[in-house]
Amino acid sequence: MRVDIVSIFPEYFAPLDLSLIGKARAGGLLNLTVHDLRTWTYDVHRTVDDTPYGGGPGMVMRPEPWGEALDALAPPTPGDRRPPRLLVPTPTGVRFSQALAHELAAEPHLIFACGRYEGIDQRVLDHAATRMPVTEVSLGDYVLFGGEVAVLVIMEAVTRLLPGVLGNAGSLDEESHAHGLLEAPVYTKPPVWRGHEVPAVLRSGDHGRIARWRRDESLRRTAARRPDMIAALSPDSLDKRDVAALGEAGFPVPSADMAK
Ligand code: SAM
Repeated sequence: MRVDIVSIFPEYFAPLDLSLIGKARAGGLLNLTVHDLRTWTYDVHRTVDDTPYGGGPGMVMRPEPWGEALDALAPPTPGDRRPPRLLVPTPTGVRFSQALAHELAAEPHLIFACGRYEGIDQRVLDHAATRMPVTEVSLGDYVLFGGEVAVLVIMEAVTRLLPGVLGNAGSLDEESHAHGLLEAPVYTKPPVWRGHEVPAVLRSGDHGRIARWRRDESLRRTAARRPDMIAALSPDSLDKRDVAALGEAGFPVPSADMAK
């Protein structure tokens, strides 16, 4: 996968040399380049912002440097070639999710445009949309200083889905949000620590019971912390034991009759 990140703070992306993302880059699974937006400025102050039309506080990122950056990184593609996908972090975007991470992991080329100040002049996005798919994406309902941290988060979530990046790809299938639930609690050695014991079932060696315990804990935890996720589950994905576990967690399951 090729990734280009454009920002006025390229130093922000030093962590992308570390850990498994750094390994993916070194191993050629991820071809990632960080670009300084000011490369595409020509005045002595390397200006990227100006006052907003219509007045109001703050500054807005000017369109010219962004236009040139996107021309350089995503030249107009002939009809038969797939253009890159432009991702623009903004609190006004669609909420980032594991589903979107999967979608992005299947793209051959992503470009991230990191806004600062009050954001990027809207015409940059409108013009880019005439040449490539553009997705405005939000990390959540709060406001950050800039898009850099959002890009770090998105790149962590996407890179771990790329084939060959995780040593044990099976862990992707069992973790939170893989199937609409939160993961059950996890434990390691020692069996007793400061008076807290690892649940006996996990030390039983009985794989069937362990799988059932994990499923029950996963359902209970999701019901307690994220009832919205339980409400979004398809009844077809629940068996009778699931419904019982949810009932014990005090979660009304209107679809109980439909459970397998
Ligand atoms: N004026 C904008 C608004 O009210 O929607 C907020 C601008 S914010 C101070 C500056 C930049 O931070 C944004 O352009 C975006 O790149 C980034 N940003 C802030 N909050 C974000 C969020 N929740 N998700 C993704 N990016 C965010």
